Formats: sequence, C-alpha cells, structure tokens
Amino acid sequence: MRATARAAVAIGLLLAVLAPRAAAQAPGRVTIHAARLFDGRGAVIRDATVVVEGGKIAAVRRGPPRGAADYELGDATLLPGLIDAHVHLAWHLNGGGRLHTPDDGETPGEAFAAMAANALATLRAGFTTVQSVGSPEEVALRDSIAAGRIPGPRVLTSTGQIIAPEASPERLRRMVRALAARGADVIKAFGWDDPRAAGVNAAELERLRAICSEAASLHLRTLVHAHTDASARAAVLAGCTQVEHGLFVADATLELMARRHVWFDPQCSLVFTNYREHRAAYEGIGGYSAETFDWFERNVPVARETVRRALRTPGLRVVYGTDAVAGAHGRNAEDLVCRVQQAGQAPMNALASATALAAESLGLADRIGRIAPGLDADLVAVEGDPLRDITAVRRVVFVLKGGRAIVAPRAARETPASSG
Ligand SMILES: [Zn+2]
Repeated sequence: MRATARAAVAIGLLLAVLAPRAAAQAPGRVTIHAARLFDGRGAVIRDATVVVEGGKIAAVRRGPPRGAADYELGDATLLPGLIDAHVHLAWHLNGGGRLHTPDDGETPGEAFAAMAANALATLRAGFTTVQSVGSPEEVALRDSIAAGRIPGPRVLTSTGQIIAPEASPERLRRMVRALAARGADVIKAFGWDDPRAAGVNAAELERLRAICSEAASLHLRTLVHAHTDASARAAVLAGCTQVEHGLFVADATLELMARRHVWFDPQCSLVFTNYREHRAAYEGIGGYSAETFDWFERNVPVARETVRRALRTPGLRVVYGTDAVAGAHGRNAEDLVCRVQQAGQAPMNALASATALAAESLGLADRIGRIAPGLDADLVAVEGDPLRDITAVRRVVFVLKGGRAIVAPRAARETPASSG
C-alpha cells in the first residue's frame, strides 16, 4: 500500500503541476452575458448569453445565464472577434522614433519584440485575426502565437511581397513557389500602377496571370496591390483573388470584380491619418518624400469616394483591411468609423465586412467571423451599441481569443482581494 500511497502523492503532485497549464491550454466552460450581441452576419440578440467550452462557442441564447455569468458585461455589445485583412505587423518605429529599416542598427531580437508588441496592441483592440502582408519574420510570429508562446491575433502571412516588374513569368512562378515553401498563407503581389497606362497592359496581365495561376495551383489566394484602374483590371482578368487599395479604379472595373467574384479591399482613413500623424517618423526614408505626403493628403477624399463607389456596386464583396503600418497598430477599428461616418455604410454592414465577410475572404468562415455554436470562441465586446454609435468600436471592454480572456473586466467568480 505504501507504493500506492506514494504513487497517489506523486500523481497528486503531477496534477498540481499540470493543472494550471492544462487550464491554459484548454479553457473550461465560461459564460458571458451582455445587453446585446451581433452575430457577424445580420442578427442581433438582446440580453444575450454566450457559453464557451474548450475554446469553442457551445451555445448562444437570449436571456441571462443560469446563475452568475463568468463575465457580466452589462451595457456592452458582443461581436465576433474582428478581422483585419491587410496589416503590416513587422512595420514599426525604432528606438529613435523612426520607421525601422534594415540598416538602422536594430537587432533581430528588438525587431521581433516590436512586431510582437504590434500584434498584442492589435489583439487588445479587438482584432483576433489579421492577414499580414508581409515579411519573412511573420512566420515565427504566426507560429509563436499559434503555439500559445506569446499573445496575439491569429496571423495569416504572405511572408513577403512580389515586387518584380521585370521578372519573366517563369521566374514569377518560382517566386510564388519559394514564398509557399517558406510558409506563406497567401501570396501578395504588386501591379505596375503605371499612371500613363491607357488600358490593361498585355505584359502586366501575363505576369499577374503567372503569379495568380501558380498560387491557385498551390491552393493559395492572391492579393494584388493596385491603385490604377489598369492594374486593378489586369488583376481581375488574371484571376487573382483580391484587389488591394484600388484608389483610382473605375466603376466598370468594380462591376467586373463583382461579376468575377474578386474581393475588393479599399481603405477609408487609418493609413492616411497615420501617415499624417507620423510624418516625421517616415519622411526621408525610402520613397517617403514631401511629394509622397502631398499625394496622401490629396487622396484622402478620393479614398472615401472609392469606398462609397465600391459599396454601391451591386454584388461586390468589400472586405475590411486597414493597411495598418508603423504607428497604426491597435487603431485598426478606425476604418469602421470612417466607413460609417464618411462613406455612408450601414453600421451592421461595416461590422459584417470585418467579421463574417472577412472570414469568408480568408477561407476561414467555418472557424471564425460569427458568433455561432461550433466556431472558435473569438469574441469582442464594445461599450454601448455600435449599431447606433459606431465609435463604440474604439471602446473595447472585452476580448476573448480561443476561449481565453485577453481583455476583461474582473470575472464575477473572482473574489476581490480583501483590503483589510
Ligand atoms: Zn499594405
């Protein structure tokens, strides 16, 4: 019996050691109650309770929970974890307050820490999934977050960008395969954006076709950076998945995108206001000249008008991507405010574009983007009602990722520390 007793003690110790870790790996049952819930598509539930089990949403219902909720959020609105389909997590300001460049003396460790801080700021702002487009360091970031070693949103990365206007189609195909081999979730390429182009350029079309068809053969989506109408149209004709930015895209091309089921990701405000606010950090580096900043400034109203035109194009799927660069991380909700206040989008549609629709664009609709049983427990709550006042998205009071609380009011279960 001594051996059994000893074994029992040993097992007890083992459990004591393992228990907290096991709890961290597979969160137990958690109930959350809030004044209202938006499911990501079009349904609103008042007085909503969500039950989470093992990191997944187990139940969603109207009415308070039986007993006290683990998280009583009061007059808040629960939303699916928000999704930003276009960020640059690796872009950061260095110790000197300037945009980080490879030759600024920063160590790889410092650069990784800054990128991880961007990821955490993004998560705390309610964004539980981002598509980062892209740098090779994002592979380690994505994998460290997925393994639970550091906190952050789920990251999809392009691991780099194809900017090779002179490359042959065969060389471009090799570049796609190389990005895939280093772990890319998506391929990001640049259109030529020749401002003098009168129409689609045959050589550009051939190159984009090589990139996008090679990616498709590897079951990878393709995002094409294009501002001019000619480049955006070439991306659509080349069979690419999504057009980024598209400042000067014509209505006819927006209609073609809708017919060909190509996603469109225009920006409303954050990227522009961020450059304005951080001009001193960027100016003089690379292509950031005084003329560049004039260009940004001139195009603020153009951007809003492009978003407006996109939103009124029948059948066009307009996804949510902010192009968050250095200085902008953690303010990813700003384009939601702009979409509603400046571009006239209905709040519910703006929120859907950053949840259910964005999840669909990433090919993850069966896992994220909605509050529904069986999906990952990625939940956000904002103060008040964003369907009445969209600025509520700036006031995040609760973030749950995979069932684990990242931002939360004190759980009802916890007993406050005695002050005696
Ligand atoms: Zn970008």
